[in-house]
Amino acid sequence: MRRTRLTMAAGALAIGALALAGCQSGGGDDGLTIGIKFDQPGLGFQDGTEYTGFDVDVARYVAEKLGYSEDQIEFVEAISANRETMLENGQVDMIFATYSITESRQEVVDFAGPYFVAGQDLLIRSEDAGTITGPESLNGLDLCSVSGSTSAQRVKDEFAEDVNLVEQPGYSQCAQFLLDGSVDAMTTDDIILAGLAAAQGSGNLQVVGNPFSTENYGVGIPEGSELCEDINAAITEMIEDGSWEKAVQANTEGTGYTPSAANPPTVMADCGGVPS
Ligand code: GLU
Repeated sequence: MRRTRLTMAAGALAIGALALAGCQSGGGDDGLTIGIKFDQPGLGFQDGTEYTGFDVDVARYVAEKLGYSEDQIEFVEAISANRETMLENGQVDMIFATYSITESRQEVVDFAGPYFVAGQDLLIRSEDAGTITGPESLNGLDLCSVSGSTSAQRVKDEFAEDVNLVEQPGYSQCAQFLLDGSVDAMTTDDIILAGLAAAQGSGNLQVVGNPFSTENYGVGIPEGSELCEDINAAITEMIEDGSWEKAVQANTEGTGYTPSAANPPTVMADCGGVPS
């Protein structure tokens, strides 16, 4: 499945080598290489050799509908800042990684979906509940977010004068900073924050619960990919047969998270578009 520029240019030798690698790893030419997050509990999480979370469940469902068995999937880490590049370079066939569909990303990649709607929110230490109630109460404070995310970009665009943005490669690093007191809050999508807070298990962290954006999670695919329609059909089927609801429930259980009323979303008719 995976057709990198390298294999197209380098001919039979490289194709043979990749096919061999594919046999060993499960991905490669006869499988699917899927980018996910490795550090977002309940969404995309690596636990030893296991991968869990809602993104992983949707990815597995879609892969099966595309005709791939479980052992033909290779999951690789796609941190926020690397997602477009990984698709452009042919390092992955698809990305399921809390990946918001945006106009600027649409300039370089395509998106199937959306398969979930989240909203940007804040995670704080529980002792600050009532004091930090939204981005407007962050005056002069340190706020952690992740490079290459819509979350960090929104802070730069809308709150740059008020807050000190601390950028990290992943949300688990921000959660650690919040726990050890290095920052005052962190920001990204509510469902990500709920998973991180619950994974702490201590009750020390809590989501503010005042979302200030709409994040439509899409399946990132290389520009012009022929997979778009089949992925959209699979997502629609997952919603209609009840598997989507089960996956949401199973992956958010115990986190106190309730998905927004925009769920489940309707998939776009056109993979080059942005949901309104
Ligand atoms: N959904 C947002 C984005 O795609 C934030 C979460 C993330 O970084 O994965 O940028």
